[in-house]
Amino acid sequence: MSYVSEVMEQLEKKYASQPEFLQAAREVLDSLAPAIEANEEKYRKVALLERLTEPDRQIIFRVPWLDDKGQVQVNTGYRVQFNNSIGPYKGGLRFHPSVTLGTIKFLGFEQIFKNSLTGLPIGGGKGGSDFDPKGKSDNEIMKFCQAFMSELYKHIGPDCDVPAGDIGVGGREIGYMYGQYKKLTTTYCGVLTGKGLTYGGSLIRTEATGYGLLYLTETMLKANGHDIKGKTVAISGAGNVATYAAEKAMQMGAKVVTMSDSTGWVYDAEGIDLAAIKEIKEVKRARLSEYTKYRPNAVYHTEGHVWSTKCDVALPCATQNELNLDDAKQLVANGCIAVAEGANMPTTLEATKYLQENGILFAPGKASNAGGVAVSALEMSQNSERLSWTREEVDQKLEGIMVNIFNNLASAAKRYGHEGNYVMGANIAGFEKVAEAMIAQGI
Ligand code: NDP
Repeated sequence: MSYVSEVMEQLEKKYASQPEFLQAAREVLDSLAPAIEANEEKYRKVALLERLTEPDRQIIFRVPWLDDKGQVQVNTGYRVQFNNSIGPYKGGLRFHPSVTLGTIKFLGFEQIFKNSLTGLPIGGGKGGSDFDPKGKSDNEIMKFCQAFMSELYKHIGPDCDVPAGDIGVGGREIGYMYGQYKKLTTTYCGVLTGKGLTYGGSLIRTEATGYGLLYLTETMLKANGHDIKGKTVAISGAGNVATYAAEKAMQMGAKVVTMSDSTGWVYDAEGIDLAAIKEIKEVKRARLSEYTKYRPNAVYHTEGHVWSTKCDVALPCATQNELNLDDAKQLVANGCIAVAEGANMPTTLEATKYLQENGILFAPGKASNAGGVAVSALEMSQNSERLSWTREEVDQKLEGIMVNIFNNLASAAKRYGHEGNYVMGANIAGFEKVAEAMIAQGI
């Protein structure tokens, strides 16, 4: 049995209750096979894959907090410090009722390769809680964030582990957590990224994942003789990633026709009105169904997916496994030419395979959504030198990083005889650097 199959079999036995982690591990390990086989003896001897798939540390803690009625609520908090062989652990915090240890492990595992791909010195980690921010008052959000940080602060630090935002954790939550960290430690340092601009945040961090997604998509399209200009784009989600992906797509001359949230999706044939989306989601924190009040000609759906829409480029930017095999078939039938993941693992394994087999250009999230963590690392650099860079400077660096990521993954895929397989290219390019660092540093 091959080394990859052996390790995968062990993981399946040990972590049967963590399907998302197993899905991420299978996707990565399967596509690493050519690189592993070329060095099988060396990697086996140091149990490289066993070490790579087992986090350095998994912290699980109770988060008790007081709601507005004076009732104590209890949630579970997680921080998985997966791998720090190339830099301090780095990865977001997710607040969503669906969060389990398995979710955090899948995200932390993916983060190792994504962070490596950026070319910046950051290791992989992820955290979060099963807390549901929906319907909570501002006061309750603050109480929860403070309670969460009251335990997390013991395990993080600017040279050790630097969390950021993810689903359910934006600027407001980072602010409350930063305030609590400062209070508990009496230190003012770059322990979190995604901070507000008045207290150490970086320009472009808010836009970074969405903008970076478009920089990479455009580079991938150009490398294959296409151009984003004039294309019709379907986007899912209406959160941070989706909003700024839509903004950059429009700036680049594309027409975005869909966006979605967890209750439904909108189709606007004339092109999405982003000012309306920002007001609904960022100001009112309301449901997307409100969109038709701003744009009466748009259609709001509660059934089906945005992927049934005819588009040239599809950008899944909401959550994991939101683009399945049926969706992939519909995209292909409708003449879509490219799919680039804004979210983490939004495409199921079967759907990815189908898209690739049918000649669709496919950019995996660990490459295409790496702009967020890349600018987070730039925020860390600015915090360390106690300086702030201009918007143009950060944006230029972001674009350079995304172009580099694409070039690296395209050449890794080619090197192993799988030209155009960007999933394989991204995994191999991310893996090689981490593997070398792990071996160099001993067990
Ligand atoms: P947000 O919380 O800002 O937005 C998430 C969006 O997805 C919302 O519109 C939300 O709808 C929707 N959504 C969430 N869960 C579901 C679900 N189960 N079904 C349908 N829709 C859903 O998160 P982000 O934009 O920050 O993150 C989106 C994705 O991008 C995640 O996979 C995240 O891990 C990934 N990512 C984020 C980065 C960042 O910098 N923020 C960096 C790299 C990756 P609703 O409003 O109804 O909840």
